[in-house]
Amino acid sequence: MVASLLQYPYRRMPMKASVRTALFCISAVMVGIVISSIKERSSLATHNGKFGCAVDCMDGRVQDAVKQYIQKHYDVEFVDAVTEAGPNKILAENTETAIIKDIEARVNISVHHHKSKIIAIVGHHGCAGNPTDKDHQVEHLRASKKRLEGLGVKEEIILLWVCEDFKTIEKID
Ligand SMILES: [Zn+2]
Repeated sequence: MVASLLQYPYRRMPMKASVRTALFCISAVMVGIVISSIKERSSLATHNGKFGCAVDCMDGRVQDAVKQYIQKHYDVEFVDAVTEAGPNKILAENTETAIIKDIEARVNISVHHHKSKIIAIVGHHGCAGNPTDKDHQVEHLRASKKRLEGLGVKEEIILLWVCEDFKTIEKID
């Protein structure tokens, strides 16, 4: 009896210590997870200047080239894609008000949430949404720029033309 009483605390101690160690390890891991998730969130929030935005055609032949052009020339890491079928026609004609409102809303998310500093409006060869020649599409691009400026977009707006090879991009003045 005496022996078992004497042994009791010594038997209990190592168990308690191991439980404590396990709890400590679990809490350390959980704190680590919380800290890394906070770091991840804050790094997204501080990605100022690393996003750009492309008001681009939905045509799958043009998006990669446009993204790469903006990343290369404007020190941008991510390019938000606002896609429509022939967005330059839609913005220039100004008749599809619901679609224009939607474009505006998405550009605003890119500008205000991702702090995009550069917005590209894109036209391209062989556009099914805007089936006209380059000269007319360039006119549409210029009118589209005015439309976005009129909607209150203060960031730099550039106009891009994707050529027939779907790789070469011309910047329109
Ligand atoms: Zn198109």
